[in-house]
Amino acid sequence: MYFLQRLLRRQWPFFVGVAVNFGGMADVHDALTRSKNMRAIKNKNTKPELLVRQFLHAHGYRFRLHVTNLPGKPDIVLPKYKTVIFIQGCFWHGHQPCKYYSLPKTRTDWWAQKISRNQTNDSQKQAALTALGWKVLVVWECELKPAHLTNTFAKLLWTLS
Ligand SMILES: [Zn+2]
Repeated sequence: MYFLQRLLRRQWPFFVGVAVNFGGMADVHDALTRSKNMRAIKNKNTKPELLVRQFLHAHGYRFRLHVTNLPGKPDIVLPKYKTVIFIQGCFWHGHQPCKYYSLPKTRTDWWAQKISRNQTNDSQKQAALTALGWKVLVVWECELKPAHLTNTFAKLLWTLS
């Protein structure tokens, strides 16, 4: 019985969520918001970020994740080194030149604007962090592909040492 109570308590937010949907409130989260939420959740543990975290951890670096009170919520924060790391997807952040960044053939202008906005955001948040005395490192997704991994990590160690 106790187990059941605990289970119910743990599942409670889920049941509430279901109830809300059955209550016809599904429109509250339109499809766009929902997909944004999904992406936000997924983004927190993307594989490239895990690679960097595992590497840092194996080398004895202690870090914090997604620190919300810093500009741009950096993916990885190394307080001791006053360093933050952003792991950026080549497409979404417009990495150039990079084979993983090319604008889609349809709605090209829309994509160009969107990615250009992301880039502006990136440079603003990085400038804000620098102004606060943080060293900002950007690791691009393509730099974490198997062929470049060793090189990227060597650079990372060098930068942190
Ligand atoms: Zn790239």
